[in-house]
Amino acid sequence: MDAETGQRTHTDHGSVVGTGRLASGSIPAGDGGCVVWHRRQLRTRDHPALTYAAREYDTVLPLFVFDPQFYRTDGLACDARIRFLHESLADLDGQYAAVGGQLNYAHGDPIDVLSQLRAAGWTVVATADPTGRYGWQRDNAAAEQCDVTYIDADGLVRGQKDTREGWSDAVESWFTDEFLSWDAERVSLATLETPVTVEAIEAAYDIDPTKTDVPPGGTTAARDRLRLFTDAISHYPGSISAPSAAKTGTSRLSASLRFGCLSVREVYQYIDTHAADCRGKSMFISRLYWNRHYNQKLEDYPGWMETAVNPVMEDFHADTADPERFAAWKAGRTGYPMVDASMRCLRATGWLNFRMRAMCASFLCDLLEQPWKPGADWFYYHLIDADPAINYTQFQTQAGMVGVNMLRIYNPRKQVRDNDPDGEFIRQWVPELDSLPTEHLDRPEKTPLHVQADCGVEIGEDYPYPIVEYEAARQRILDRFTAISDAAERALSHPEVARRASLSRRGRSIGRTARASHAAHLDDLSPPDDNSRPQTTLSRFHSATESDKN
Ligand SMILES: Cc1cc2nc3c(=O)[nH]c(=O)nc-3n(C[C@H](O)[C@H](O)[C@H](O)COP(=O)(O)OP(=O)(O)OC[C@H]3O[C@@H](n4cnc5c(N)ncnc54)[C@H](O)[C@@H]3O)c2cc1C
Repeated sequence: MDAETGQRTHTDHGSVVGTGRLASGSIPAGDGGCVVWHRRQLRTRDHPALTYAAREYDTVLPLFVFDPQFYRTDGLACDARIRFLHESLADLDGQYAAVGGQLNYAHGDPIDVLSQLRAAGWTVVATADPTGRYGWQRDNAAAEQCDVTYIDADGLVRGQKDTREGWSDAVESWFTDEFLSWDAERVSLATLETPVTVEAIEAAYDIDPTKTDVPPGGTTAARDRLRLFTDAISHYPGSISAPSAAKTGTSRLSASLRFGCLSVREVYQYIDTHAADCRGKSMFISRLYWNRHYNQKLEDYPGWMETAVNPVMEDFHADTADPERFAAWKAGRTGYPMVDASMRCLRATGWLNFRMRAMCASFLCDLLEQPWKPGADWFYYHLIDADPAINYTQFQTQAGMVGVNMLRIYNPRKQVRDNDPDGEFIRQWVPELDSLPTEHLDRPEKTPLHVQADCGVEIGEDYPYPIVEYEAARQRILDRFTAISDAAERALSHPEVARRASLSRRGRSIGRTARASHAAHLDDLSPPDDNSRPQTTLSRFHSATESDKN
């Protein structure tokens, strides 16, 4: 582990557990059986591919392939996320064991592994998960070379020219439809003899997480968390914005949803049935829609992970890219306590609430004028819940890369006053400011020298001066955004770019099919992020003024 960056540095020892060739004789004859290739939907309940396989085939072979791509030092996955994955696999193995089977493991290039199974007569199915870059190429190669069929009952709209036509109705009917279930008694569960185990992989790749406060992986732990959160859901609205309150007051289900330990639909239906009717319930359900909304975006345009969605914005910060500024942002040494506390919290725990993620993304790109992609990759590496569909689309949105509503910039000083008024979060993560009086935490550099002397903190020595001056930096980016906004808008009116951006259409189908009990969430169905960058609660979103957003 590199102490400076918190990133993995060890060499890859993956060959210890094989490189994709299954031992001859270890592969059972397919005889018309079906492999369920688990990637990120790590559960057996409400699983489209497993349900399909168990209905159409007599023999099912559940499989997970440890892919060295994700274990390399540039694999953009911190050890804590890998551990979360491994815990989730162990739980999934337990779910299969409960019905007399097991989760089978292989290690190597999935295309090599699946080709061998295909050659032995197995059909292969997997869930259709929105992805980009390597995952996109892998899935296409698996379809072409191994005839993998992707099963897609996940609420997203596919195969339609305009996926946003009737979108909210489609998602709502998916949410409220019955779970998918499979009859384990009907099928025989096959096993694959390999030396690959979670423990062998952990040892081979020296998995050694250093992050703290990471929730445990797996369906069992996720259901426990869901139950606890449901009982406390009335506190949710008051917990969303302040990072200290969010740590315990939001659901903390994001990593479990990202790895599919629970389906988004299971969470929806559990909350719908068990949570008391209150604002917290409707706000939370809205966020489950946003989960689908951002997944729809990546499904519509896999390029979100690599290029600015609005081509006019592609090189927007290329001339101002500065490795020192980027390094200060990553390390939490910018001189803005709320940004620094957030960036250090991200690295130490792998989680931040929405508002702090958005503020840090905006700070990097708007105020420091740095390119969005290295920042999004940094988030992706450290987040336990790193979801390709949400992280890259959100980062681009917060960085102004969509080309709409670029003029709203987070004010990191105001965030201290609004969301950490007692300095709890800042003191936890920026201990060098511990003894500074609370009233100076939004602008430590303005602390009178005699106060600095009294409390033993020297700004400029113990804690940096602001890396940029807020007002000047804000004005600079506003001028630059204003100068490019017409071109950005014109680009967005091009049908291809509009399709890529996959913006929601506020109000389009709201209420058309609303069942009475869902009226509340339908009222705030459109995620604010397409149209409004800083975000708190939905009700605030609808009535917010410019000043209270920043
Ligand atoms: C720059 C940036 C990057 C982000 N990257 C990710 C990511 O990689 N993975 C991820 O799950 N979320 C991401 N988010 C969204 C949001 O910050 C997290 O979903 C949330 O903080 C997770 O905590 P929670 O489960 O307690 O959320 P809760 O408030 O309890 O929400 C419940 C679930 O709703 C979904 N959700 C909540 N807010 C959003 C949102 N704004 N957009 C889409 N879905 C949402 C998530 O699945 C979440 O788990 C990102 C936001 C920003 C601004």
